[in-house]
Amino acid sequence: MSSLRGASTRLDRLRMNPNQRPAPMQIALDGPSASGKSTVGAMLAERLGCDFLDTGMMYRAVTYIGTQNRICLEDSEAFGNIAANTSFAINRHENGDWRLCADGQDVTDHLYSEEVNFNVSPVSALPAVRRSLVRQQRDIASAGLVVMAGRDIGTVVLPDAHAKFFLTASAETRAERRTKDTDGQIYQEVLQSIERRDKIDSSRADSPLRAAEDAVTIVTDGLTAEEVVEEILTQLPVDASRAAAPLATGGA
Ligand code: C5P
Repeated sequence: MSSLRGASTRLDRLRMNPNQRPAPMQIALDGPSASGKSTVGAMLAERLGCDFLDTGMMYRAVTYIGTQNRICLEDSEAFGNIAANTSFAINRHENGDWRLCADGQDVTDHLYSEEVNFNVSPVSALPAVRRSLVRQQRDIASAGLVVMAGRDIGTVVLPDAHAKFFLTASAETRAERRTKDTDGQIYQEVLQSIERRDKIDSSRADSPLRAAEDAVTIVTDGLTAEEVVEEILTQLPVDASRAAAPLATGGA
């Protein structure tokens, strides 16, 4: 309890004087599918009063736009062009959800179909797609305090992030959570889909899923999202006096 109180105080001070602009503070959250990054990331951003970008949504959006245009998975150039020519922005809906706009259009409701789930990992393995999306992710992060979730945030997108966390859980726990969250999905199918994506994401040549060397790994089996957020808050290397400058303690 005392560590939580300490963390809140540090965070309150991090918010600083509203007239003072803090230096961009970046918190990287990586991990495999359904490890809780999106839920935890949104809750953490809420506690910090900052933006949250779930980069998986961007890969999903490129996949969605490609499949809408009947582009086949082998056409890496076409997918690369979509990533290069689509401008992404995040928006916080009044219900608290973070939404993704692609060229000004909210595409969030299209991003979690079975078709996108199936195709997103092969599309994400394309270097041309990654190059363009990573550039946009860094632009978004340069605007200020941000929590960013993905697979390669601590290793590639924001290697100098002030704090890095790697959330993980067994495939079975992750499949259970995902099955509960989505209507009508069968546990065995969800488990297979998660294991397939884990394999593609971890074995691809470009930016494979892995924990950064300076990341704190949190095993989330048996923990609620709230507990994971509290754990992260206690570990944030935030010091009020240094909030406007890069933190000396570096990655957690
Ligand atoms: O996080 P989520 O499951 O929504 O991500 C969908 C897919 O996007 C992942 O399976 C992965 O293939 C890809 N991805 C990625 N790099 C990121 C975020 C997501 O390759 N930074």
